[in-house]
Amino acid sequence: WEDAMKKLAAGNWKMNGNRAALAEVSALLSAHPAPGCEILLCPPTTLLAEMAGLATGSALLVGGQDCHAKGSGAHTGDISAAMLADAGASHVILGHSERRADHGERNELVRAKAEAAIAAGLIAVVCLGETEAERDAGETLAVIGAQLDGSVPAAATGSQLVIAYEPVWAIGTGRTPTIAQIAEVHAFLRARLTAHIGAEAGKTRLLYGGSVKPSNATEIFAVPDVDGALVGGASLKAADFGAIVAAL
Ligand code: PGA
Repeated sequence: WEDAMKKLAAGNWKMNGNRAALAEVSALLSAHPAPGCEILLCPPTTLLAEMAGLATGSALLVGGQDCHAKGSGAHTGDISAAMLADAGASHVILGHSERRADHGERNELVRAKAEAAIAAGLIAVVCLGETEAERDAGETLAVIGAQLDGSVPAAATGSQLVIAYEPVWAIGTGRTPTIAQIAEVHAFLRARLTAHIGAEAGKTRLLYGGSVKPSNATEIFAVPDVDGALVGGASLKAADFGAIVAAL
């Protein structure tokens, strides 16, 4: 991870993709052999090691979508951060709103997972974002500020972290905040992270996520303090994700 100032195009495949889908990765790499940004794909764990093999010697980084807070032991069905690293991961997404909703993950658990990830040498991609009701109630900054304080390890260095701002109501809906709303949240996040971990916060990439597509990527990436994107649906196809990579 040689250039901390490069932007990051991160793809989250969620519970999508079988081994045949790895053809999209080969297509992405041949279409973008020397991208101007970092590229990260977070496939289902079943594909992680094989995707890491495809990524060897390329600009592609691979990551997990979750990990356990403990290093090993009697936790049936779970995966440790060290296992992700062993499979070739450099990053792990933590605290995604779907994990918070589907598995009841709270800030304290997300922070424990982030500490485990960092201890295993991974970069923790910590996700936060408000619901539509919270935005309508004028609580957006209070909610994401509390999520940041609760979910992000205070002892982390800036480059051990990526923070993804993903408004829950923008995920998979085709709706996005206005450019002014994204700018407001990202400026707030940089200041809040600086209060939390100090000047190191200048080295942390702040990603926007939620319905990022080739058609809106350019204007979103131009927003100050937007250091890349976390992309769900549009990361599954090489043509779409490649267009987003090209916009960074
Ligand atoms: P989306 O998902 O791009 O499909 O809206 C984003 C995410 O959940 O990371």
